Amino acid sequence: MAVRTDIEIARAAEKRPIPEIAAKLDIPEAALIPHGRDKAKIEADFLAGLRDRPMGRLILVTAVNPTPAGEGKTTTTVGLGDALAHLGHRAAICLREASLGPNFGMKGGAAGGGLSQVLPMEDINLHFTGDFHAITAAHNLLAAMIDNHLHWGNALQIDPRRIVWRRVMDMNDRALREVVVGLGGAANGVPRQTGFDITVASEVMACLCLAEDLADLQDRLGRIVVAYRADKTAVTCRELGADGAMVVLLKDALQPNLVQTIAHTPAFVHGGPFANIAHGCNSVIATKTALRLADYVVTEAGFGADLGAEKFFDIKCRKAGLAPAAAVIVATVRAMKMHGGVAREDLGREDVGAVQRGCANLARHIANTRGFGVPVVVAINAFDADTPAEVAAIVDAAAGLGVSAIPCRHWSEGGPGAADLARKVVELCDTDSRFAPLYPDDIGLFDKIETIARRIYHAEAVTADKAVLAQLAAWEAAGHGSLPICMAKTQYSFSADPALRGAPTGHVIPLREVRLAAGAGFVVAICGEIMTMPGLPRHPAAETIRLDAAGEIQGLF
Ligand code: ADP
Ligand code: MG
Repeated sequence: MAVRTDIEIARAAEKRPIPEIAAKLDIPEAALIPHGRDKAKIEADFLAGLRDRPMGRLILVTAVNPTPAGEGKTTTTVGLGDALAHLGHRAAICLREASLGPNFGMKGGAAGGGLSQVLPMEDINLHFTGDFHAITAAHNLLAAMIDNHLHWGNALQIDPRRIVWRRVMDMNDRALREVVVGLGGAANGVPRQTGFDITVASEVMACLCLAEDLADLQDRLGRIVVAYRADKTAVTCRELGADGAMVVLLKDALQPNLVQTIAHTPAFVHGGPFANIAHGCNSVIATKTALRLADYVVTEAGFGADLGAEKFFDIKCRKAGLAPAAAVIVATVRAMKMHGGVAREDLGREDVGAVQRGCANLARHIANTRGFGVPVVVAINAFDADTPAEVAAIVDAAAGLGVSAIPCRHWSEGGPGAADLARKVVELCDTDSRFAPLYPDDIGLFDKIETIARRIYHAEAVTADKAVLAQLAAWEAAGHGSLPICMAKTQYSFSADPALRGAPTGHVIPLREVRLAAGAGFVVAICGEIMTMPGLPRHPAAETIRLDAAGEIQGLF
């Protein structure tokens, strides 16, 4: 039988009306704002009424360092949610929304895969409920108000060379990375150099994803630093008076979106901050809503556990007061082989020795995640080419650390294929999780960066120019010293070198640049080349994406 593509499986799946999915979590129809028949936002009043409810168990799905072979975190998040529901538990899933631009380049979808997908996957990967468009508009309103302020006399004395707020668009467009605005004479404003980032890189996105409610969102937006004066004091969004209007644009976008999996498990898909210069997980509002309505909530953090889980714990959980009950680390035989030195072309050949060597990468993620006080299980996401001896090598490596590694077939079988994993997760949720962030709020910003580099990456040192250290000191003096760090480095390695697989030691992390996200509430530490406006490849997927005669989308996945 020919293997069906993700989109073919998704299209063939039967979708239940969204009120039926909501009813599984006792969300009344009156609390739904339907977007068509299979998507709905949840009304703010209903959310406010949930505030005093006890919370269910939060389960994080993270992974080994990604390889070009692909690991399947989203697929496992969906599969585990379906498996918990299959066992009769009241379960919900929380995922990020997808960025639209990359779909037209070469990325696959962001809705899971095989029989473990959220629906309607085309919508989720494209315009969905319009949240990202609202974020784009709110971000660019602030940009327009900055240039307008310069045009009308610049009462705030913004230094036009020190404006840090750029514009955003949800498209891969490298030509917009650096632009000059305000050309064409005095009537067109003040000429200056600026540029575009992709919408998911917007600090408005990070604010929306960390906000507790509309008032908190407005506070965060108001605190965003948009520029500096000649004396280097900061100019904020609030001083420009933009925060109120931005909240108006974002008020619907802040309400979480409810959809369903192929097995009709409720899934909240809401918010989607970049996993490098932002924290890379779905909104706090969606997670808390799910926790107040379900007994088990499965969620995903972007990239490997060194970046995704660390930021989930140290930024999202710390700030939102969440305490995860368990963590699932996704590993694959293919990824372990690549971490063990096998080239992509040779992945088809059995190589138990390489799997064993590659498990050094898994072992470090296990130790790191346990270091946060969270119990861990490994999900071995099964691929057709895996051999029993290779799978056993992962099981043995994990057992050596006292951790279960459980083969899972949710991609090919749906929820029942991950039932063993779900049973283990339930068991772990009943053990003592003593979650604590990695570092306290009150140590220096550079100390925090060093702590992450040494304890999580096993680096020997962090290097930084004097100018970078002076910038951190200036932010501490301006009252930002208690913020957590958002690390931006390659997702492919514990080091700053994407080619260094496995579990390297003794490497040095070069801290190149720091950025303040005072609204979102973190300091971004950039350690490597980080792209905030992707480009399209020579032959983008857009060349083959089209509607067929039946009006169905072809070529997207
Ligand atoms: P991540 O969230 O880690 O980036 P995804 O869950 O989005 O990864 O999966 C990436 C791709 O890999 C998807 O197209 C999915 O269909 C595919 N995939 C995931 N698990 C399997 C598997 N067990 N066998 C085959 N393909 C898989
Ligand atoms: Mg994913």
